[in-house]
Amino acid sequence: MTAHIGVLALQGDVREHLAALSACGVDASPVRRRAELDDIDGLVIPGGESTAMSRLLGVFDLYDPLVERLREGLPAYGSCAGMIMLASRILDTRADARHLDALDITVRRNAFGRQVESFETDLSFTGITDAPGADPMRAVFIRAPWVEEVGGDVEVLATVPDGPAAGRVVAVRERNVLATSFHPEVTGDVRVHQFFVDMVRSA
Ligand code: GLN
Repeated sequence: MTAHIGVLALQGDVREHLAALSACGVDASPVRRRAELDDIDGLVIPGGESTAMSRLLGVFDLYDPLVERLREGLPAYGSCAGMIMLASRILDTRADARHLDALDITVRRNAFGRQVESFETDLSFTGITDAPGADPMRAVFIRAPWVEEVGGDVEVLATVPDGPAAGRVVAVRERNVLATSFHPEVTGDVRVHQFFVDMVRSA
């Protein structure tokens, strides 16, 4: 059966994620309503603005149902603002911003600072770029968070290779939940999406 993967479509770069998922051969559709949430095997939370997304989750009455589905084990992938939404602890956010507490990490919003607010680099991604003959992954960071702490069950999949932020954690997985600080949906390289699709299929 074809996996059905939703993209949370309240705000952010929804279209790019839908296109990347479609390129992986799954049935991909936007999620704005509770009924659409009930209908999916996995959810992507896009990049955008986490504080705006947090507010809209409330406006659309999606916050509680989404937290519940994540607790039940719904596979989820968050890029950038999506990583912030999935995290358990957020540094440098607004006091009233809510998040989903599905991934045992501490993230710092806008962590890379003004100098390197947006940048690109090639990096290694465990489970993807370590395949025989695989190319490194181009990672695009846009006012991105980084991961400052990971819980014991969290696997670190990628770090920044060099420069002022060398060693910073930028991709993690804990069971069914995947997150990247960067935006694979804008590069045309769908390997992270394929990785998530495989997680959904084996869930
Ligand atoms: N800085 C944004 C936030 O805090 C995230 C940026 C992004 O998703 N590109 O939500």
